[in-house]
Amino acid sequence: MDYRFLGASGLKISEITYGNWLTHGSQVESDTATACVRAALESGISTFDTADAYANGAAEEVLGAALTGERRESLEIFTKVYWPIGPAGPNDTGLSRKHIMEGINGSLRRLQMDYVDLYQAHRYDHHTPLEETIQAFADVVRSGKALYIGVSEWNAEQLRAGQALAKQAGFSIVSNQPQYSALWRVIEVEVIPASKELGISQIVWSPMAQGVLSGKYQPGQPAPEGSRATDEKGGKNFISRLMEEPVLTAVQRLRPIADELGLKMSQLAIAWVLQNDNISAALVGASRPEQITENVAAGGVRIPAEQMAEIDAALGAVVVR
Ligand code: NDP
Repeated sequence: MDYRFLGASGLKISEITYGNWLTHGSQVESDTATACVRAALESGISTFDTADAYANGAAEEVLGAALTGERRESLEIFTKVYWPIGPAGPNDTGLSRKHIMEGINGSLRRLQMDYVDLYQAHRYDHHTPLEETIQAFADVVRSGKALYIGVSEWNAEQLRAGQALAKQAGFSIVSNQPQYSALWRVIEVEVIPASKELGISQIVWSPMAQGVLSGKYQPGQPAPEGSRATDEKGGKNFISRLMEEPVLTAVQRLRPIADELGLKMSQLAIAWVLQNDNISAALVGASRPEQITENVAAGGVRIPAEQMAEIDAALGAVVVR
């Protein structure tokens, strides 16, 4: 496993990071979740990403329980704040000072930890003054409850404004967490160039397009049993926009490219996002431990320029830019 710096900070994280959206506390039972966490640790993954809102708080509880007894200094724990957990009162959403302060306390309680390494704004809040949000994050850092601050799905303008205020408040935003995969490349035009100027790196979600880029969904065929596309608890709904025939057909054209490189398609997908030097980590999910073992083998793989061009040609018009 290779470790990369998070933005311009001194924090190193595993370039393949394990995320538990839709799985822990929902799609998979606790024993499978624990087995996935064990497999991640054994594979050299030290960085774990969750959020307060995942499975209404249960994802943080499951992750915290699975990591009980691990050496805290050897882990990087990332969580997020923005969305409400369960029934929402008027102050349970967004990035107000109140919600951030309640949010970090709730996350630490569920994770059974004294601090998180990275506390992230899950989205931009258009209804709270940015100054209030940044000042609250500064206070969270000063209190020692989070060591670093990141954001998720902020655009270039929001990153610039947030970073300027953060510097005034005495800290830096170190990371942004956007969707990025060979199929979804929206951040390439503005977010990555702005981030490079600002000392912000990306930790990217759904690098495998929720499993679609593993090639396991064949056009015109039923989805494999136990896969996200059959998960009635939520997964099926989230993956549905990627399950269209033209996308699945284009993805199958990646198989010979992966074969040529001696890689599984899942590994090709992860290695593809890690080619970009503004990406600190691919945030990979897994519903079973074997997937983690397979996925971490993508670490350190360089895809030659010729195959990068072949990937572009194979996916063609289905790529969202
Ligand atoms: P991926 O694109 O990595 O998809 C993971 C899913 O793909 C797994 O749960 C599994 O689903 C399937 N899979 C994994 N490995 C393999 C394999 N080797 N072969 C075949 N199928 C495989 O990422 P996710 O969509 O899960 O997102 C990853 C993380 O990103 C989240 O856990 C979360 O931490 C973060 N995230 C952040 C968001 C944000 O707004 N900031 C939004 C979404 C995610 P199955 O077996 O069930 O088919």
